[in-house]
Amino acid sequence: MDYQLILNEIAEEIMSLQDKGKVANYIPALENVNPEQFGMSLTLFDGTQYNVGDFNTLFSIQSISKVFTFTLALKFYSTDLYKRIGREPSGNPFNSLVQLEYEHGVPRNPFINAGAINVTDTLISYYGNSTNASKEIIHFIQDIAGQPSITHNEIVSTSEMDHGFRNMALANLMKSFNNLDNEVHDVVETYFQHCAIEMNTKMLSRAMLFLSNHGMDPISGVEYLSEQQAKRVNAVMLTCGHYDASGDFAFHVGLPGKSGVGGGIVAVVPKKMGICVWSPGLNAQGNSLAGTLALELFTSKTGMSIF
Ligand code: GLN
Repeated sequence: MDYQLILNEIAEEIMSLQDKGKVANYIPALENVNPEQFGMSLTLFDGTQYNVGDFNTLFSIQSISKVFTFTLALKFYSTDLYKRIGREPSGNPFNSLVQLEYEHGVPRNPFINAGAINVTDTLISYYGNSTNASKEIIHFIQDIAGQPSITHNEIVSTSEMDHGFRNMALANLMKSFNNLDNEVHDVVETYFQHCAIEMNTKMLSRAMLFLSNHGMDPISGVEYLSEQQAKRVNAVMLTCGHYDASGDFAFHVGLPGKSGVGGGIVAVVPKKMGICVWSPGLNAQGNSLAGTLALELFTSKTGMSIF
């Protein structure tokens, strides 16, 4: 299959949509990103990459980081993790407080904000303190992306800390239900730091390979998760990776995927490749508008959906 040709066609076809979405402006440090950018990368199991557009531009990975923190928490805590976090789609916006109150401080899944904040809490406990947890999360991401230069943007994480009243509220609510072990401030700060990690589509498509290959990185041979755990991460990406638009994403794209409000989306083609697309303009549910369409075009053109 001529992947380069397919990527070129997709870039051409989504061009008219690049300025249709809205850049996330509830995080002030993100609102100045030029919405008219688009990049897409595929990484195959032998490391071959195909790219189009702004694939070298670093962007804020935001909620895509939740795939990596969930991976680490699952590795360390296994099924005990589900005593404190569910694995059902929420059907609610990613930062909703209402459901968390009804469900006694147990977040629906690890990808809505409350669930991801809870996952970060488990990692702080595992690594002993928040400084170590932040370091180890970045280290893990550097490892799976094969890029030691990856780091987080302090301006973005500080901006979120200054305006993150809703995330603070979610963490406080969980703490009130005894479902948060560490200090609210430390947990939320560590959460914002991993959201503020910057990568490009090349690095992120590479970082998805272990999930396309039953938990084992096909290039380095390192087993990051057991086969069964990798299956679980992919399943939760499929059912919960796009919040209240997860059904829509499965319907149109048909791949496990995870979005972030920085405009990135990662997706997994089992046994074949990792994909990342980036375009900062978002749809109403906070997912990249052109990025979602690009992935739909990809699975339509290649027949590579899981269905
Ligand atoms: N850091 C963002 C937040 O907490 C992540 C949200 C997202 O990417 N959907 O609001």
